[in-house]
Amino acid sequence: MPQKITSKSIDDNLKRRAREISGQIAQKCFQCGTCTGSCPMIEHMNVTPRGLMALLQWGQADKIAEANTPWICASCHVCQVRCPRGVELPKVMEALRQVKLRTNVNQIEPANLQPEEIIDLPQIAMVSGFRKMTS
Ligand code: SF4
Ligand code: SF4
Repeated sequence: MPQKITSKSIDDNLKRRAREISGQIAQKCFQCGTCTGSCPMIEHMNVTPRGLMALLQWGQADKIAEANTPWICASCHVCQVRCPRGVELPKVMEALRQVKLRTNVNQIEPANLQPEEIIDLPQIAMVSGFRKMTS
């Protein structure tokens, strides 16, 4: 029987996947704000890097989805170098981008593919499409 999708299961799923992809434990962050104070892209973000870590700790998937922070982050690594807790924030940002990009929409259904489509489609498009089938 399929699991019921609740807001809690979406939140838990986001936390689990962000941790799996990034290898980072959000709970390590103790909210000092050094990352926010160091970030050169901060004026363009609608949620600070510190704030994003807080949302991740609480598993606030809907608010994370509205944050432009992972997409604005320039992966400059300043926050990572200065973080007193050794949180590799650029990896967290990348993980949140990946989770969003792999959302189960517009995925490729293998059973629906025609042979000529398999030949014509770029391989990278196929791989990306299949990734969207992961949960
Ligand atoms: S610098 Fe590190 S510990 Fe401080 S708020 Fe940012 S991620 Fe958390
Ligand atoms: S890696 Fe991203 S979040 Fe961290 S300081 Fe650079 S731009 Fe800001």
